[in-house]
Amino acid sequence: MEPTKLLYMTDMQLLECSAYVEDVEDKDGNVVVTLDQTVFYPQGGGQPYDNGTISNDNATFVVEEVRFGEGIVSHIGHFEKGRFMQGEDVSCKVDAERRALNTRLHSGGHVVDMAINELGYTWTPGKGFHFPEGPYVEYSGTLGEETPEAVADKIGSKINEILARNIKTEIRFVSKDEMAALCRHVPEFLPKDKPSRVVLYGDFGVPCGGTHVVELKDIGQETIRKIKEKDGVIRVSYAVA
Ligand SMILES: [Zn+2]
Repeated sequence: MEPTKLLYMTDMQLLECSAYVEDVEDKDGNVVVTLDQTVFYPQGGGQPYDNGTISNDNATFVVEEVRFGEGIVSHIGHFEKGRFMQGEDVSCKVDAERRALNTRLHSGGHVVDMAINELGYTWTPGKGFHFPEGPYVEYSGTLGEETPEAVADKIGSKINEILARNIKTEIRFVSKDEMAALCRHVPEFLPKDKPSRVVLYGDFGVPCGGTHVVELKDIGQETIRKIKEKDGVIRVSYAVA
């Protein structure tokens, strides 16, 4: 099967598209639909998958989970009405509310990262968890002499300052060498089966395949909930409202 064309990679605001059904398969009590192209975001990079529907005149498929592997997006769920056949044309529609929240949470993670960078902390970015249930970003590093509360206050103030600048999200598809020139930190392992993309906020670049707000102010209010240091890992928990 050809790799699924990832439409959300080039247009992150696109929530609907037409597609061609490559395959419909029953698996572990669910149905897995694969398409030639999709607007559905598969879970990854700390961002949860989209929900939504795929339909045509004959059938409606409810997308409950979206996964990515070896270039293929699996839309997992059940048919509410009828069933597609391979080769049929369908319309995809992402749950806009869920996507909007996940996008704001994900972009909020980048703003924490920008704030930390601007404050001059040289911590190395690690895991990000941009789920509605307690989002956080982790770094390897140390707080040194500063208390977690003092650092949280500084990052919180810097975040407000950054959000007030009205910075637009820019995306660029680049080679790994160009990536190193644009980004403060490039992880050792980047997915080989997805386009190589950098997200830029001004001159701050991050290798990222997630979905992002058009302008940083679209995140809304962003606050630091807590900072915790343990075994050389600093966890910065945040919230958006
Ligand atoms: Zn991102």
